Amino acid sequence: MEKVIIVGAGPCGLSAALELQNAGIDPLIIEKHSIVHSIYLYPTYMQFFSTAELLEIGGIPFSTPNDKPTRAEALHYYRTVAMRRNIRICSYEQVIGIVKQDDRFTLSTLDRAGRSAGYEAERVIVATGYFDHPNMIGIPGEHLPKVSHFFREAHPYTGMKVAIIGGNNSAVDAAMELVRVGAEVTIVYRGETMSASVKPWVRPLFESLVNKGRIRMLYRSRVISIEEAAVTIEREDGRETLDNDFVLALTGFHPDREFLGAAGILMDGDAGKPRFDPDTMETNVQGLYLAGVIAAGAEANEIFIESGRHHGTAIARHITGA
Ligand SMILES: Cc1cc2nc3c(=O)[nH]c(=O)nc-3n(C[C@H](O)[C@H](O)[C@H](O)COP(=O)(O)OP(=O)(O)OC[C@H]3O[C@@H](n4cnc5c(N)ncnc54)[C@H](O)[C@@H]3O)c2cc1C
Repeated sequence: MEKVIIVGAGPCGLSAALELQNAGIDPLIIEKHSIVHSIYLYPTYMQFFSTAELLEIGGIPFSTPNDKPTRAEALHYYRTVAMRRNIRICSYEQVIGIVKQDDRFTLSTLDRAGRSAGYEAERVIVATGYFDHPNMIGIPGEHLPKVSHFFREAHPYTGMKVAIIGGNNSAVDAAMELVRVGAEVTIVYRGETMSASVKPWVRPLFESLVNKGRIRMLYRSRVISIEEAAVTIEREDGRETLDNDFVLALTGFHPDREFLGAAGILMDGDAGKPRFDPDTMETNVQGLYLAGVIAAGAEANEIFIESGRHHGTAIARHITGA
């Protein structure tokens, strides 16, 4: 039986593993893809808004010649840390259930070939993030193949008419990249003005593209339906239908509360925030902990790497009684 199993090898799961190692425990991580898979899926040329030292885990230096690290540098950092510290990771194995009986947890898993397996542990840390669960808008046409909730690179959209739904960093970054490949970009955003969370050093560049008419920015607007060759937008002064080739619905993500609920974790309030002790990260199920963005409520962005990387410290302290 394992002493501790961590579900998910994102930055916060890895950080928990390092903190446990430092406390003399050698945990096992089970990861359904490869390590830091969410970051792997981020836009290819993305630059983090955090400086490198705020993304460090286990006190291991993350250095970069850039002001802020790129996605490629972060992938390199986290996989190097995992390999150098010999963190035990079962990759390409998905945890599909966690059951507690007496004083032990049984985790059931499925590997890539559909083979099932079982693991036992005294304690479990769930660090599954949120990136698998985009916030759906719930409008007709959202499931058409031309609609994506993820943006990787601009190239496939060269010369295309692209509607971006959303107004945060993801939407702004994607729009600026799309303009460079000659896409015709319209951002449809329900906010009154630009989101306060947009990176301050990006804001003037973006505003200049809007002022020059290279990006069409529609505030107080909603896409209400998506068709094969058009989108219909509701604005204050009525409806407008635009010719359209692709839709990027960059409306954020939410943690998988069903997975948590099935493990016996209770949710509080309308936001469905999982119940846990913020000092220890232990949930209402004794011995079952949360680390990283999975601990967030409705506002998933309340936890990010900068803050979620510290959860492992609290958990290790609680487990070892230090
Ligand atoms: C574009 C973008 C830019 C960002 N920039 C920053 C930034 O500059 N600074 C910052 O601090 N934060 C930033 N964030 C937020 C940050 O990336 C997330 O908060 C962070 O990834 C959360 O880490 P995590 O370990 O909790 O979850 P994740 O990184 O999502 O990792 C969860 C892992 O669990 C695995 N998993 C899920 N379910 C299962 C299962 N059932 N079984 C096994 N494995 C499973 C997943 O495959 C994944 O590898 C950014 C986010 C985005 C989208």
